[in-house]
Amino acid sequence: MTASTPQPRANVGNIPAYVPGKPPVPRADFTTYKLSSNENPYPPLSGVVEAAMGVVGQMNRYPDMGCTALYAALAERFDVPVEDLSAATGSVALIYQILQSFCDPGDEVVYAWRSFEAYPIAVTAAAATSVQVPVTATGEHDLGAMAEAITDKTKVVIVCTPNNPTGPAVTQTALLEFLAKVPSRVLVVVDEAYVEFVRMDDAVDGLAVYRDFDNVVVTRTFSKAYGLANFRVGYAVARAPIAGALRAVSLPFGVSGVAQAAAIASLAAEEQLLQRVDSLVGERDRVLAGVRAAGWEIPEPQGNFVWFTLGDRTGDFAAAADEVGIVVRPFAGEGVRASIGEPEANDRLIDLAGSFPH
Ligand SMILES: *Cc1c(COP(=O)(O)O)cnc(C)c1O
Repeated sequence: MTASTPQPRANVGNIPAYVPGKPPVPRADFTTYKLSSNENPYPPLSGVVEAAMGVVGQMNRYPDMGCTALYAALAERFDVPVEDLSAATGSVALIYQILQSFCDPGDEVVYAWRSFEAYPIAVTAAAATSVQVPVTATGEHDLGAMAEAITDKTKVVIVCTPNNPTGPAVTQTALLEFLAKVPSRVLVVVDEAYVEFVRMDDAVDGLAVYRDFDNVVVTRTFSKAYGLANFRVGYAVARAPIAGALRAVSLPFGVSGVAQAAAIASLAAEEQLLQRVDSLVGERDRVLAGVRAAGWEIPEPQGNFVWFTLGDRTGDFAAAADEVGIVVRPFAGEGVRASIGEPEANDRLIDLAGSFPH
């Protein structure tokens, strides 16, 4: 039967909703904090604000569509050819572009679950098929099972390291073992949104992997460590034919001029920014120690967030957090992700972990 109204493709109705981290409700009695979106709690660096302000007066003009200066800065910073780069409005947009340019309807995309909630959204939007491989009890990727999940229909595999929301990162040894098992026709995305926060032995070196493998694309973002979440800018690094495919499907003029300017200034201010990351890692260690001392078994956090496995008490924990003025990100029936924030917010999280029955 022919419908009498315009019908979106069937997959569109199946796209899960993205649940954004809630903002805190302001309270008269004390400051409330947002620990629900893995944002950087620091205000922007002055040089970055000035660089962005310098472009605000040109808002009547389209931005540089070729992101020329940004590509030049990234190419120099990471010693990669400009042809191997693709910038986009956040690395979420890169995931969309990867799926749009590599998947036909029904093609399979393998990734760990639970992992980044944008993956099933992007896969469904591309009319591709999600193959979710459960993370281990300690929130780690089961790379052996992921390799076994690859079929003739698999086009893309996503490795999220560190894994959002559970926290652990993959080792370079494990990633190389995995890549040796993946057919060369399958594109492997290494999502390094939190790479700057990783402090472990044998950490993944995404750029080394990109250099050694024709079928790897590394995605990174200015949203987390660099504190530019609002401006929407991320980049992919891959061999030129792959990066070129991503640029081909990108929205014209997607990355705004302010975002380009702020990203370039952030790379220039990298030392200062990464000192802040060091402080956040120090706070993460403090939270981890406090929470573990309170008796919680939580997965090894390598990003700017920690994960509490709570099952059906997830909502209670999130409500208790609201009570003490910190907003966390509940995943119904599974657990809670809490971002590392201001020291006061982290103190409250540690106190809450101590008082919440577990
Ligand atoms: C936050 C995040 C991203 C990037 O988000 P953008 O703001 O779109 O750059 C990508 N992957 C993971 C796993 C994330 O947590």
